[in-house]
Amino acid sequence: MRAIRVAEFGGAEQLQLAEDLPELQPGPREVRIAVAASGVNFIDIYHRTGLYPLTLPMTPGVEGAGTVDAVGAEVHGFSPGDRVAWVSVNASYADQALVPADRLIPIPDGVEIKTAAALLLQGMTAHYLVADTFPLVAGQRTLVHAAAGGVGRLLVQLAKQRGAVVYATVSTDDKARMVTELGADAVIRYDQVDVAAEVTSLTDGVGVDVVYDSVGQATLDGSLASLRRRGTLVSYGNASGAITDFSPLRLSQSGSLYLTRPTLADYVVERDELLARAEELFTLVNSGSLDVLVHREYALADAKQAHTDLASRGTVGKLLLVTSG
Ligand code: NDP
Repeated sequence: MRAIRVAEFGGAEQLQLAEDLPELQPGPREVRIAVAASGVNFIDIYHRTGLYPLTLPMTPGVEGAGTVDAVGAEVHGFSPGDRVAWVSVNASYADQALVPADRLIPIPDGVEIKTAAALLLQGMTAHYLVADTFPLVAGQRTLVHAAAGGVGRLLVQLAKQRGAVVYATVSTDDKARMVTELGADAVIRYDQVDVAAEVTSLTDGVGVDVVYDSVGQATLDGSLASLRRRGTLVSYGNASGAITDFSPLRLSQSGSLYLTRPTLADYVVERDELLARAEELFTLVNSGSLDVLVHREYALADAKQAHTDLASRGTVGKLLLVTSG
């Protein structure tokens, strides 16, 4: 098999293609998959740099899709040839992956394998953020940062489907056009203007009910200042760097705010929850109600370029490593 290996934490140059690795053998409850495509996510950069350390050497990648090619002795319900996808299981930057059967998601008819690989991690994240972390209801106002990004595009669409008023931040005119087409009610160029001042003006001085913030360090102050009294900051990412040294007193001084720092793994713990989130997303895709955009497909050997591009702020939607076909 072929896989990307990381021997030491560091820059994108640490992503090295290894060929002629021994074929993976599934344990009793595991399934071996011929990987068609692996999603590239910001968390892969954190694994590579060691911000979220894994044991080295390791193969990055936490989601993918492909076809089953071998099953362990105790696996029921999956057979060779089945089209499947998974999230939150390590080592997907490879042409073979081992996934516990209870983490596998069948891909329904009508959904392309690559679409499943592009949809699930970021889609499930957007889904739990608007459905569970802060369950948005019609008429509520929300600020979505990095709205043209992988999670951001899907978050804007799901928030609009729930009837929310969506203010979206982006850093280029092209991204602004894209999120307007997706339904954002107003776009804020956070690279150019003061976000809180814009939000204050858009909401007649009230502020938004919730901020979904994947940018972290660079946007923290503006996010807190954009919230209404007793509003909620959902800080779910660190694209600009992790927030450190945060005093809870800031929440009381900014209007008795709420702060939460959720992660997907805690919202797909039970198999029923995992499958229900996936099914809702697949249904939206099959009915044409959710636009999944693949920014670019990369060969496995070009994982380095994919990481460089994702960190550069030059991408929109999803980046995929394509390993077969
Ligand atoms: P994106 O496609 O959103 O890419 C990151 C975007 O963030 C960029 O395109 C850019 O948009 C914006 N950005 C702002 N400042 C910076 C900066 N200094 N460096 C890089 N990007 C910056 O990535 P993802 O959708 O994959 O992930 C976004 C964040 O969400 C990550 O931090 C990720 O870890 C997190 N995440 C969290 C999950 C959870 O469950 N908690 C699950 C999935 C993702 P612009 O140019 O418009 O500013």
